[in-house]
Amino acid sequence: MKAVSNVLIVGGGIGGLCSAIALRRKGIEVDLVELKSEWTVYGVGIIQQCNVIREMARLGVLDGYLGAAFPFEDVALYTSDGTTLARIPGQRLAGPDYPANVGISRLALHNVLSQTAEKLGTHIRLGLSVDRFEQDADGVDVQFTDGTQGRYGLVVGADGLFSKVRQLLFGDTYQPRHTGQAVWRHNFKRAPQIDHLANFHGPDGNAGLCPLADDLMYLYLTSYEPGNPWMEPDSLAEEMRKRLGAFSGLIGELREQITDSSQVVYKPMEVVFVSEPWFRGRVLLIGDAAHATTPHLGQGAGMAIEDAVVLGELMGEQGATPIQVLLERFMKRRYERCKFISESSILAGDKEIARDHDFDRVGLVRQMLAVTAEPI
Ligand SMILES: Cc1cc2nc3c(=O)[nH]c(=O)nc-3n(C[C@H](O)[C@H](O)[C@H](O)COP(=O)(O)OP(=O)(O)OC[C@H]3O[C@@H](n4cnc5c(N)ncnc54)[C@H](O)[C@@H]3O)c2cc1C
Repeated sequence: MKAVSNVLIVGGGIGGLCSAIALRRKGIEVDLVELKSEWTVYGVGIIQQCNVIREMARLGVLDGYLGAAFPFEDVALYTSDGTTLARIPGQRLAGPDYPANVGISRLALHNVLSQTAEKLGTHIRLGLSVDRFEQDADGVDVQFTDGTQGRYGLVVGADGLFSKVRQLLFGDTYQPRHTGQAVWRHNFKRAPQIDHLANFHGPDGNAGLCPLADDLMYLYLTSYEPGNPWMEPDSLAEEMRKRLGAFSGLIGELREQITDSSQVVYKPMEVVFVSEPWFRGRVLLIGDAAHATTPHLGQGAGMAIEDAVVLGELMGEQGATPIQVLLERFMKRRYERCKFISESSILAGDKEIARDHDFDRVGLVRQMLAVTAEPI
């Protein structure tokens, strides 16, 4: 008998939806509960690099969103005035017909993932979470927050940085930590030269431009924010402009167009890493619930997506293998890779805070691209 024939996924973000798609494609019954009753995502973009394109193609969703994404090849690093430090060509890991990388709006990505998960037969309930669960050798009995119940062969906690499932499994052992930095984002009309991912080194933080569509790109900026201060919503445009003060060239020109605070998305950087197996019995954490990191290497969602693909593969090939063995195999394929991304991203931020301008950021990006190009 199969160890797992039905799965509950808690959380309908990128990791949860990709897990639903991967598991449904292997014929496994999937229930998904999402806390938000209105399933919206905030309207900025996300970078999906070579390894992610490969896995999105394997999940069968890439064709669905290429029309809504901006395909690009290279990642470039510049000084704060726009002098080129390095231009790293992308690798077409999904095959010659697919781009190396894409930039895509989070909403477009969410629409493709949620529609695919639904079309494949995932049972989705919104405005709901897990209240508690109890497990025995054969399954997990789940009590939902609306009083309903279910029994599952596997429960997947894909409920992000402030994961309730992580809390139910590990208590207060793992708490999100503010790294000292924050990210500022703002959409602009795409400049013609931004046909690649462009990172600019500033004295106190990095700025970058990512193309999202023919007429859209977004600007991101990392800044040192000791003590994680509260930002008045009305002051965001002015505060973002201030922090871009040292940039000239294109970033300097764009800075002057940041005048409407409602168009600025501000987010403190918070991280967590579960440094022991991400499962207990038949309950497993994936994505940010297990390994939320900073966006310096643009790989957080990438790691959540890879988790989902590996989970789908293992559950599809399970035969009569016991669940403990399957989840140990999952950890073997995921732990070191996610730890590398997590630690390297945090290191890049720590070096910005320390104003260590000798830090070899280009080398780190090259290493990240080499590591993530390896098969999962
Ligand atoms: C500023 C910033 C920029 C980033 N840029 C990039 C990038 O360019 N590329 C990249 O790859 N990554 C990027 N990331 C990282 C990426 O956003 C995350 O790693 C990714 O969203 C993690 O996906 P997830 O599904 O694990 O968690 P989430 O996306 O957080 O999804 C969790 C879901 O669970 C739901 N939920 C929460 N609690 C419960 C509960 N108790 N019950 C039920 N549901 C619940 C939430 O509502 C949400 O829908 C960035 C992150 C930040 C902060």
